[in-house]
Amino acid sequence: MTDCGDSSPGGAETGGVEVFRMPLDDYREKRDFARTPEPGPAAGSGEGRRFVIQKHDATRLHYDFRLEDEGVLKSWAVTKEPPSSPGIKRLAIRTEDHPLGYIDFQGVIPEGQYGAGTVEIWDSGTYTPILEGEPDKNVAQAIDRGALKFRLEGKRLNGGYVLYNFDKKGKEWFFFKMKG
Ligand code: MN
Repeated sequence: MTDCGDSSPGGAETGGVEVFRMPLDDYREKRDFARTPEPGPAAGSGEGRRFVIQKHDATRLHYDFRLEDEGVLKSWAVTKEPPSSPGIKRLAIRTEDHPLGYIDFQGVIPEGQYGAGTVEIWDSGTYTPILEGEPDKNVAQAIDRGALKFRLEGKRLNGGYVLYNFDKKGKEWFFFKMKG
């Protein structure tokens, strides 16, 4: 599923030397901004709590779920339609952080470019993290530890949701709606 992104988040290593990575390096390195209409890797700022789900008709249809946090969009590729009711668990592959400007992106990524295919906004709105105190003081820490709960207020999706990392490598997650 190369069109969903397959680099793991975090630092890269070269010859045993840890290379310092900027937050959007993975995003930038995958794309040719002279050829794709996608926004450039501009760093953002602010404490916004928006989310977007982009239906991405690439090599394989998937739904890119993105949460605004610390000036970027934390991102997962959900492999089937995101559930609007409890009892349905979706596989979500963690992908590279995207720039805030991506939250409004819709369009066609041309043939031959990374993620070639049509992108349309399937849902958007705001989210509220449900942080249960120590040690998860913020969204980034909760994601790093492999579990994040939040409430979505979107047009299609509303209520409590969970992202849960089950491979313990930060790559493969479940995405599902909570009961109640
Ligand atoms: Mn995608």
